[in-house]
Amino acid sequence: MTPIRNITILGGGTSGWMTAAVLSRAFTPDACTIRLIESEEIGIVGVGEATLPQVRDFNTWLGLDEAEFMRATNATFKLGIEFRGWGTSGSYHHPFGVHGQSAGGIPFHQLWLKARTFMDPGSIEDYAFPIRLARENRFDFPVEDPKSIRSAYAYAYHFDAVLYARYLRQWCEARGVQRIEGQVTGVDQNAETGFVERLTLASGESVGGELFIDCSGFRAVIAGQALNLGWEDWTPWLPCDRALAVPCERTDDLTPYTRATAREAGWTWRIPLQHRTGNGYVFSSRFTTEDRAREVLLGALDAPAQAEPRLLRFQAGRRTASWHKNVIALGLASGFLEPLESTSIYLSQIALTFLMRLMPDTRFDPALAREFNRLIDIEYERVRDFLILHYHANSASQGPLWDYVRSMPVPDSLKEKMALFRHRGHVQQYKDGLFSPASWIAVFMGQDVMPQAYDRQADGLSEEALTGYLKDLKRKIDSNLAVLPSHAEFVAAHCYNPNSGISHD
Ligand SMILES: Cc1cc2nc3c(=O)[nH]c(=O)nc-3n(C[C@H](O)[C@H](O)[C@H](O)COP(=O)(O)OP(=O)(O)OC[C@H]3O[C@@H](n4cnc5c(N)ncnc54)[C@H](O)[C@@H]3O)c2cc1C
Repeated sequence: MTPIRNITILGGGTSGWMTAAVLSRAFTPDACTIRLIESEEIGIVGVGEATLPQVRDFNTWLGLDEAEFMRATNATFKLGIEFRGWGTSGSYHHPFGVHGQSAGGIPFHQLWLKARTFMDPGSIEDYAFPIRLARENRFDFPVEDPKSIRSAYAYAYHFDAVLYARYLRQWCEARGVQRIEGQVTGVDQNAETGFVERLTLASGESVGGELFIDCSGFRAVIAGQALNLGWEDWTPWLPCDRALAVPCERTDDLTPYTRATAREAGWTWRIPLQHRTGNGYVFSSRFTTEDRAREVLLGALDAPAQAEPRLLRFQAGRRTASWHKNVIALGLASGFLEPLESTSIYLSQIALTFLMRLMPDTRFDPALAREFNRLIDIEYERVRDFLILHYHANSASQGPLWDYVRSMPVPDSLKEKMALFRHRGHVQQYKDGLFSPASWIAVFMGQDVMPQAYDRQADGLSEEALTGYLKDLKRKIDSNLAVLPSHAEFVAAHCYNPNSGISHD
């Protein structure tokens, strides 16, 4: 077994530098040479600003200092996503945590469903600590004591994706990663085996390698343009194919959550950073024009725009095989799912976890590629179904896009999940793939997909005991919340970037 000693990464966006970081953390420069080619002229997408809690595991594994990383990327904390205009209640949160606390092994939402049969328990969100925290614009780190209501959540970050790539680049170069500036214009394959042997740059320089990781974004220079690996188009389920992105000035209420507001032909995002607020409109060109989308986006800003809106084009879908021979496509080169649940950076991260687990030697056993592709398929399909749910179950928005998504046939896997939840509030739990039952429950209930009945195990608690339990829980949440700092105060104390241009005095 001969270990790989030369790895070439094409692309210096978030996924390219995350790949370089993982490889340089795992291999010393003596054991393996890691090269990364990127082109400043082409640039990076750079609008990936909202993340999932798993990014913390990634940073921790690398050994990054949280406060330093947050200062360097103008980051803020994220407790989840507020969805506006997707359900009849007007707004709901998908928190990084659970609603309430289970009692005697009975999931909280079942208790709440039972309570509704004999009293008015109020909104289920009133019992969710991370949602209450978010709504009041407060933040603190979760505590470890599992009995405490303050342990029932996780957090992620909003950060400037361009600065994150730059930060990782410095970290990687200090660990021996060799960065090559230039544009790849040719991909040379072995005529017999089809394995890629070298990449040729516009300058004439050529860069070899044993393993090639294609992080070249939507261009997919190796996997798409050279190898022509297939692409599965998911536009029939996820018709949005454009985004306009624009930063605006920061406002005073530094919200610890991303906001996703349903609009006439898609949805807008709002992501608060220390120095500005990131905004964008993800829309379908089938149902609106770019001019109208620009008008909607600019009309939705809560402060003056800092630039002209920038247009990005994409297609929802994924590569039918991300790993082929000695090439692995990662990041936007391997697939795209719109950022409604902030999943792209996570999908690069999980692909790197699989790659490290299945790291090939120079024989490139095809079984490794098959397993990698199987795992990636699961990840993409789980996220896909979750995103489709948001559109298909939108019970509030009006217009031709919404008529289309409400009536379109959905994948059988999603149909099954919805039927199960409608029966008695059950959610399938998987070993692999994103989104736990708590996430599905938040979106189902937020968008009016309600169970016809509660699970009969909730009868284990009498009406009287349940009434007392709910009252106590609310009291516990209120008293814990009252002592916590505002998100802006917390950022100021923990990770304020003095160069962000914002005064915290
Ligand atoms: C509208 C939108 C919003 C998004 N929001 C989020 C979000 O909130 N959260 C999230 O997790 N993700 C989000 N994403 C996704 C996120 O931006 C990407 O997952 C992330 O930036 C990774 O991109 P990448 O590194 O694969 O590609 P890119 O950032 O496009 O980088 C590609 C790299 O390849 C290089 N390159 C390309 N061709 C060549 C060539 N021929 N020669 C040399 N170099 C080349 C480029 O120079 C660049 O360095 C969003 C994406 C879009 C489109």
